[in-house]
Amino acid sequence: MKPGNEILSGYGTTVFEVFSRLAAEAGAINLGQGFPDDRGPPDVLAEAVRALEQDSNQYPSMMGLPALRQAVAGHGRRFYGLEVDWQREVLVTSGATEALAACLLGLIRPGDEVVLFEPLYDSYLPIVRLAGGIPRLVSLRPPDWSFGRAELAAAFSPRTRLVLVNDPLNPVAKVFTARELALIAEFVLAHDAFIVCDEVYEHLVFDGRRHIPLITLPGLRDRCLKIGSAGKTFSLTGWKVGYITAAPALLQPVARAHQFLTFTTPPNLQTAVAFGLAKDDAYYLGLAAGMQARRDRLAAGLAAAGLTVLPSAGSYFIIADYRATGFAGDDVAFCRHLTLEAGVAAIPVSAFYAGTPRSGCVRFCFCKTGAVLDEASARLTRHFTGR
Ligand code: PMP
Ligand code: GLN
Repeated sequence: MKPGNEILSGYGTTVFEVFSRLAAEAGAINLGQGFPDDRGPPDVLAEAVRALEQDSNQYPSMMGLPALRQAVAGHGRRFYGLEVDWQREVLVTSGATEALAACLLGLIRPGDEVVLFEPLYDSYLPIVRLAGGIPRLVSLRPPDWSFGRAELAAAFSPRTRLVLVNDPLNPVAKVFTARELALIAEFVLAHDAFIVCDEVYEHLVFDGRRHIPLITLPGLRDRCLKIGSAGKTFSLTGWKVGYITAAPALLQPVARAHQFLTFTTPPNLQTAVAFGLAKDDAYYLGLAAGMQARRDRLAAGLAAAGLTVLPSAGSYFIIADYRATGFAGDDVAFCRHLTLEAGVAAIPVSAFYAGTPRSGCVRFCFCKTGAVLDEASARLTRHFTGR
């Protein structure tokens, strides 16, 4: 048999699928793959049911239903003071995953360089490579996952086409500071580049922090493609509804890629997401506050089990260093051990590195009910301390 595409055959099954499967087989609590275990907002679900039964179920417009594009523009104005022309500057996609693929395939020309921050989400590098891009990685320094001017200067070149920034950052739960964003802006402007802004966790920032979209920075309005995901904003990760906001000249090549990737996205889900984006401030405040409380609950449990917990400023995730437990293997071995022997699944942080990873860290997901988090903490404490 002839082999498949060589770029893709170098990758195995994604780490999320691997550990979700292992967790199911072992009967472990799955704190690996990031998905909430509650039902999501009942009124958004009801609107999807209503639209499914009463509205059209045929192909919606390739750019997305007008109602959702208007809602995305309204969301940008309401939260960030952005003025967005919904007809020319919003594209609906089948999840942020497709939005990312459409941006990268639409904008990268073979040989272009793409600057990315490591650790990075697992779909980025394969798509950059499929598009013919050459990744240039900036390694973030733990424990605060910081970077400086020298690292950016080493990664940028006259061949830099675009930068991919995930803020808040999966897996390490970093929220970029205003100074860091300004530094990125400075390099992007100096190199006449673009930024793909993966902001799927925009409404999940904690401790009074504010999410600052790069697209709102001076000079960046026409250089950024801002990506959001209904999966994260409404705790409905299976829905796969994403949206891109960008200037017409940037969005057009991305729409060209989108029309050949998925073309469109289920209309009833689009209608329900449009409804959801208009929900009142209490919903958004409650989402972040609820998730922050879950973070604190799991952090306390992990610490009680003897793990060293790193700060989590946003997203669904928290990083724990397991070396104080005395476990001698790498992070993949630790996650297998945890799943099979302690009954709790996590994700190895090395899965988010292209090269030599930081060792000794794993990612736990805390978007679960209090009872599930407590049971996971109890299992870990029993396993590591015998208590
Ligand atoms: N980007 C990041 C950083 C993510 O964590 C995820 C997954 N949850 C996605 C993109 C994909 O989002 P979606 O499920 O909307 O495709
Ligand atoms: N984004 C999710 C996570 O980081 C996983 C999504 C997926 O399974 N592809 O856990």
